[in-house]
Amino acid sequence: MSQRDYFEKDYYGVLGVAKDASSADVSKAYRKLARELHPDARPGDTEAETRFKQVSEAYSVLSNPEKRQEYDRVRDLVGSGGFGAGAPGGFGGNGGFGGGAQNINVEDLLGGLFGSGSTFGGSRQTRQAGTSARRGRDLETQLRLSFADAMAGVTTTLRVAGRAPCSVCFGTGAKPGTPVETCSTCNGLGAVSNNQGLFGFSEPCPTCGGSGRIVPQPCTRCQGSGAEIRNRDIRARIPAGVRDGARIRLPGKGEAGSYGGPAGDLYVNVTVEVHELFGRRGDDLTLHVPVTFSEAALGTKVRIPTLDEPVTLKVPAGTESGRTLRVKGRGGHRSGGRRGDLLVTIDVAVPRKLTRTQRKLLEDYAATEDTAVREHLDAALAAQEV
Ligand SMILES: [Zn+2]
Ligand SMILES: [Zn+2]
Repeated sequence: MSQRDYFEKDYYGVLGVAKDASSADVSKAYRKLARELHPDARPGDTEAETRFKQVSEAYSVLSNPEKRQEYDRVRDLVGSGGFGAGAPGGFGGNGGFGGGAQNINVEDLLGGLFGSGSTFGGSRQTRQAGTSARRGRDLETQLRLSFADAMAGVTTTLRVAGRAPCSVCFGTGAKPGTPVETCSTCNGLGAVSNNQGLFGFSEPCPTCGGSGRIVPQPCTRCQGSGAEIRNRDIRARIPAGVRDGARIRLPGKGEAGSYGGPAGDLYVNVTVEVHELFGRRGDDLTLHVPVTFSEAALGTKVRIPTLDEPVTLKVPAGTESGRTLRVKGRGGHRSGGRRGDLLVTIDVAVPRKLTRTQRKLLEDYAATEDTAVREHLDAALAAQEV
């Protein structure tokens, strides 16, 4: 856990306890949630897994009196508005010049919170390479779905390469069975302050390299970084109704962080295959259904396929080519479970060849036909044919 985590995360909220909760209440809340959310109890439930990790992280801070005090201190500053706009990088001119006692504290914390920023241009030393807490990079992966799977939603396995939590120490960086300790130089803050007259500024802690933690006996597999390069299989639930071109974010499923840094996110770029019959318009499906001229003129009932079972479509007498009929509730699946409609476009098919009998019948019919259908063109034609 870095100071940035303290700044951003509401550990009390995660555990559902009050800020003044006793340590017994904190433990009780943790045990209850851990039982509910444990991956063994809910295999494949990635949401529960994410929450389990959040709960574990919150507990690791709130159950440790020193860390909890430090966390409260950071959160108090956040709450008091000591951070100006509250956004990383939004501190320009806030550094230590105000003269109030609190500014010194803000200064101390800033270094730890935003390790890469320079409070006073260029004054920060480059820390020794290799041991500072680092967030894992965001990763991208592609997922191709059939039309039916995209409509129904699927649980799938994504193979991701790159930095993953070390399979020996599970990301702690410590040799199994050995502790991860809070750095005593910076009390877990990750930064130490240097006061030079009026100008106080902070630097990454030289002992822990900014992570706030010390691993006395590093894991031999990952040399203490907590990460190793390997392939991982990630179970992901793709919601029903996902669209072609959708980009799904899986928080914390990207590259593993190093030396206590958080993991990056995984972005899944979804491609949905084209269906041979159905098209898509939002939550609705589209389908073209040809009918003959006489069916369109006289009206008919047609059996049509849907995504699950055939239905009977009533084509009213006098339906023009291109008219769209709506079949309620036979469209795609919405995320909330409600379905869109099936939009059926009627195409009137014209025969390319006629038998002798058909021709005779049509000619007889044509003789009775009303040709006023083109009346609206008459004025324009008259003007041009003068
Ligand atoms: Zn390891
Ligand atoms: Zn330190």
